[in-house]
Amino acid sequence: MSVLEKLSSKDAIALEEKFGAHNYHPLPVVLSRGEGVFVWDVEKRKYYDFLSAYSAVNQGHCHPKIVGAMIQQAQTLTLTSRAFYNNMLGRFEKLAAETFGYNKLLPMNTGAEAVETALKICRKWAYEKKGLPENQAQIIVCENNFHGRTTTIISFSNDPVARKNYGPFTEGFIKIEYNNLKALEEVLENNKNIAGFLVEPIQGEAGVYVPSEDYLAKAKELCKKHNILFIADEVQTGIARTGKLLATCGNCSCPDRHCSGTPEVKPDILILGKALSGGAYPVSGVLANDEIMEVIKPGSHGSTFGGNPVAAAVGIAALEVVKEEGLAENAYILGELFREELNKFIPNCNIVKSVRGKGLLNAILINDTEDSSTAWNICLALRDNGLLAKPTHGNIIRFAPPLVMTKEQLLECVGIIIKTLRMFEK
Ligand SMILES: *Cc1c(COP(=O)(O)O)cnc(C)c1O
Repeated sequence: MSVLEKLSSKDAIALEEKFGAHNYHPLPVVLSRGEGVFVWDVEKRKYYDFLSAYSAVNQGHCHPKIVGAMIQQAQTLTLTSRAFYNNMLGRFEKLAAETFGYNKLLPMNTGAEAVETALKICRKWAYEKKGLPENQAQIIVCENNFHGRTTTIISFSNDPVARKNYGPFTEGFIKIEYNNLKALEEVLENNKNIAGFLVEPIQGEAGVYVPSEDYLAKAKELCKKHNILFIADEVQTGIARTGKLLATCGNCSCPDRHCSGTPEVKPDILILGKALSGGAYPVSGVLANDEIMEVIKPGSHGSTFGGNPVAAAVGIAALEVVKEEGLAENAYILGELFREELNKFIPNCNIVKSVRGKGLLNAILINDTEDSSTAWNICLALRDNGLLAKPTHGNIIRFAPPLVMTKEQLLECVGIIIKTLRMFEK
């Protein structure tokens, strides 16, 4: 079959069903084009994208600057491996380090790889700097976390579907309740061999669960007191998504007034992925200062594609777009507007219980049981009304459009969402 041959949505879905592993359950819509906040299906129907590939497409679909950088680099040099230097990687490392306020970047490709990298750095630091006995290091993680799908990462997940029949699992993790400082303090006080605390500033996959205002700052304080590393997984929350450059607001570039009242929490290790490339290419990375990153020595960690010239060119363009177009500020303003508009509707309806989130990472809680199909059916109806979103946990729908959206577009989308929700009023 030629790639130029026209395929109907039905045919495309049938092909995936027959020849692809069934590791996803996609909403039935087959996309073939994207531009800015919009995507089109193969029948040329136009949709607002309210998922942004799980916040990878913060800069909008096919951003011309990012795509331009990618094409230019792809025609020049794509891959050298790290056996040799290339003329793009250092520039990307410098921009990432300066943008987020760290000494060094370790580039990888996917979010899960970056999380793995952070865990490895944390363990190595614990043995070589903190002096923990060999093979005894424990890393504290949170219940209902999502950090990716590798064997080690699912070892500390509590999603039964993600874990079932994938054992034996990696040891060395202690799970505590999210947003519970007492639980963190208790583990820290009762264990000698803790190396770090890995946390999402907002739990995205769990259903956009926003912790209390002082949680991250207090957690960081506890980590510092007990000499363990505070590791923030900002793969989904980072790069302007939550109305700030980072949800932890480390070295934040957004206008001060938005940050006042939110304590700045600088992670010892920062994990980025997804929007680090604007969705054009898999680019992820881990940032840390020298006293931590220096435990990584030649041969001790690596990736054939990590830090390749295309990734570097794309990463530079993606970060420049975030700054040039003021995406953090736009996400902040539109996020406030989104929740304000939905909060006008919610008290007068019985289908939505609440809306929550920060910036343009939001979710609504559907008034039905977690095992009901209501949220899925709402997403099908949203699709029919020209807007794409996906349930996270049964009865929660996440709304995360590209950050290049305008106010007029956002209000139109709120209209579509409310109109659709009204169809499900009981
Ligand atoms: C998506 C995600 C990951 C995993 O990223 P992949 O690129 O899918 O491996 C890790 N952590 C968080 C918080 C994520 O949202």
